[in-house]
Amino acid sequence: MLLGPPGVGKGTQAERIAAEFGPCQLSTGDIFRHALSDAGRDAPSAAMAAALAAMKRGELVSDATVDDIVRERARCLACDYGFLLDGYPRTLEQAHTLDDLLASLGHRVDAALHFFAAEPVIVARLSGRRVCRRCHASYHVELHPPHVPGKCDACGGDLMHREDDQPEAIRVRLKAYAATSGPVLEHFRAAGLLREIAAAADPDQVFGRARAAILALGLGG
Ligand code: AMP
Repeated sequence: MLLGPPGVGKGTQAERIAAEFGPCQLSTGDIFRHALSDAGRDAPSAAMAAALAAMKRGELVSDATVDDIVRERARCLACDYGFLLDGYPRTLEQAHTLDDLLASLGHRVDAALHFFAAEPVIVARLSGRRVCRRCHASYHVELHPPHVPGKCDACGGDLMHREDDQPEAIRVRLKAYAATSGPVLEHFRAAGLLREIAAAADPDQVFGRARAAILALGLGG
């Protein structure tokens, strides 16, 4: 499981970890973003419409909705190659739901990697981030610009500035993280599962640290 504030690089690291170790990847943020891009085509349920409105404001989605979404994807947690959670759990309630769900499946969390960086680094990353509408590849206007401005290197899709990466939503998201993350980190620390990963470096260096932590835990073999 990857923990840490929005913008610390969990999504980028999740892609790399998944490519190297092959677990089933579950990102609740990606699920909501897909639902948002489908919302013009299929009318969302009342719960999903409320979730998407919260997401656009930068607020957390309710635990009940997040827990339902994860329960619907419980098969991912029983994957033969393991699972990788990105952006979940975000509250202690979600962490407890996850523990119960995993216990019912006969599985458990092996490690919680906590990515951390100073707030100015995070704000700079979030405000410069651009994401491909089609394949969701992530860029940064200064740190990792695309070859052709506004276009994805991987698939040629249009790049967008996420609504929740606008300054006001960034402020709300960081506040939400500060309000809920402490008990979640403590929960996994108390279980002996937390590993700290300094994430202010470039993505290759951060991946080297994450990879070393995974291997040191005897995982990924
Ligand atoms: P992320 O890409 O993980 O930063 O998620 C984007 C947005 O989706 C968040 O700002 C929340 O509005 C919502 N979201 C994603 N995962 C969760 C979660 N586990 N609990 C509550 N809200 C979530």
